[in-house]
Amino acid sequence: MSFTLPLLAAFFPLFPLQTQTEEKYEHEHVYLIPFEGKARRVSQASNGVTHKGKSAHAIDFSMPRKTKIIAARDGVVVRAVERHKELSKEDKKELKQKGKQPPANIVTIRHKDGSRAIYAHLLEDGVQVEKGQTVKAGDVLGYSGNTGKSSGPHLHFCVYKSGGKGSVRVKFRTSKAEQIYLDRGKRYRNAIEY
Ligand SMILES: [Zn+2]
Repeated sequence: MSFTLPLLAAFFPLFPLQTQTEEKYEHEHVYLIPFEGKARRVSQASNGVTHKGKSAHAIDFSMPRKTKIIAARDGVVVRAVERHKELSKEDKKELKQKGKQPPANIVTIRHKDGSRAIYAHLLEDGVQVEKGQTVKAGDVLGYSGNTGKSSGPHLHFCVYKSGGKGSVRVKFRTSKAEQIYLDRGKRYRNAIEY
């Protein structure tokens, strides 16, 4: 045993590998701005008021309902929910009093490194992809809305590490920059020519 253990450790350096993966998430992939058309304002960026804990690096983009939402990165659709209605303020209050959250329509895309992006608050019947479908960056996923815990129409976008271990602060390619982190209060649009 005293002979094999160090050997195993030499061939399977588990901890350094894990660190490498983390760095990959952080630095390697540059995402598309996940919607078509005009520049939209980032109303919450990393560590925003409601972006805490596992979702600390989520980004909210304010936009009108029915804005086309596109995949920010290639992947496979692992969740597609479009059945929820947008609730009135009164209905939301009532749910809150019962200790419940209003449900949001959502698309989740798994990327090849195991990370997952969620696109949330989509329009009722406004999802255009199905579970199991492969998508390319730029493909239309559906339409923005105001479903779920939301005080106005917007897209909530967040990339989670594999296994749901927290979110990743990701860089985006915009119409003005090759790769940047987004700031709250600024407007961005993607670099695609339509
Ligand atoms: Zn959000």
